[in-house]
Amino acid sequence: MSTPYEATHEYARDQDQTDILFPFRERFLFPQHEGEDVRYFCGNSLGLQPKSVSYLMDKELSDWARYGVEGHFKAGYPWFSYHHFFAERLAKIVGANKDEVVAMNTLTVNLHMLMLSFYRPSGKRYKILMEAGAFPSDQYAIETQVRMHGYDPEDAIIEITPAEGANLIEDADIINAINEAGDSLALVMIGGVNYYTGQFFDLENITKAAHNAGAYAGFDLAHAVGNIPMKLHDWNVDFACWCSYKYLNSGPGGVGGAYVHERHGNDPTLFRLGGWWGNDEKTRFKMQKGFIPQKGAASWQMSNAPVFNMVAHNASLDIFDKAGIDTLREKSIKLTGYMEFLLRQITHLPFEIITPTEPSRRGCQLSMLFGDKGREVFDTLTSKGIIADWREPNVIRIAPVPLYNTFEDCYKFYEVLAGIE
Ligand SMILES: *Cc1c(COP(=O)(O)O)cnc(C)c1O
Repeated sequence: MSTPYEATHEYARDQDQTDILFPFRERFLFPQHEGEDVRYFCGNSLGLQPKSVSYLMDKELSDWARYGVEGHFKAGYPWFSYHHFFAERLAKIVGANKDEVVAMNTLTVNLHMLMLSFYRPSGKRYKILMEAGAFPSDQYAIETQVRMHGYDPEDAIIEITPAEGANLIEDADIINAINEAGDSLALVMIGGVNYYTGQFFDLENITKAAHNAGAYAGFDLAHAVGNIPMKLHDWNVDFACWCSYKYLNSGPGGVGGAYVHERHGNDPTLFRLGGWWGNDEKTRFKMQKGFIPQKGAASWQMSNAPVFNMVAHNASLDIFDKAGIDTLREKSIKLTGYMEFLLRQITHLPFEIITPTEPSRRGCQLSMLFGDKGREVFDTLTSKGIIADWREPNVIRIAPVPLYNTFEDCYKFYEVLAGIE
């Protein structure tokens, strides 16, 4: 380890003082505990509210009051074009071209929409490979897609589990399973960062293996987007989707996002369900028969943009743009490394960190698996103004996010944890 971390308050404060991202904390609103900001480690579950949201929301409301229908063109951010304001900033975050991304719907809806295009089972190629213990929504989506096509989930879904006694799934195990499934495989659909363990999978090589097998590769990036910089285009990923209320701080139920590689997005023969907002913009209002998909990921849109549900996204992406995803990642590696170092000083509590140690295999989340006492520890943390996240059966997840968490936050967490009997 190149950084000589120290488990002292002074060291943590020094780190904050030289952190160029430290001022970004000021842009967010923190819940209060006994008159002070809580120590918030739940940005992986629901990101904090940017202070600018309230102003921008008021602005949208007053544009509506002032312009009525004319707000479609006269509003500060004209509603007619509203979804266009996101593509460029999102593209930087996921490593794609502007036309390959779109802000629309919500995550699970996008997952279904994209699977309607990319899960087209036929003949002996009908299986979907996924990780065991995936987020429930993904499990339900994949199960019901398989049923919709008349297959039995028991037969059509290949689940990759960790080796016996292990907590993590090795990338090599996924790749071997893909090779083994060969021409029975229609789709590889995996969570980019596992929500429970915080493990980041090797998207590039998984995609390569999927393509070698003649299958598509898609990823649910709920826990990866805004957390780890990616290169979806260069990695040749076929499609991906995400939500915006976790690391992207865009509010509960905030608008989701989708990525489709341009070789598919620009292929009008690839089936997608149509709606007027996905149609070619030049003919959208001609009210003629015949769906003509526009170019890119935007052609998967159904409806006009839910503007009020996108205001916070707009505010938050501005902050991301100013901070820069690579600068955020640089701090994140250091901050999470520090948190891990501090946790390893604690030997009197029955937990192990199940998140991979290598920075390349994780984002900012650390998952602490408890033998017992997990729930008690969690409740004590909460009572002391530390917001972490509890996952059944016995995991505490913490996410020091680089946009608004500090080294001092990590130190405080450690101090409280060290004081628990
Ligand atoms: C948070 C999360 C979801 C949530 O789906 P919504 O459609 O936004 O409610 C789905 N999948 C994963 C992996 C998640 O982490």
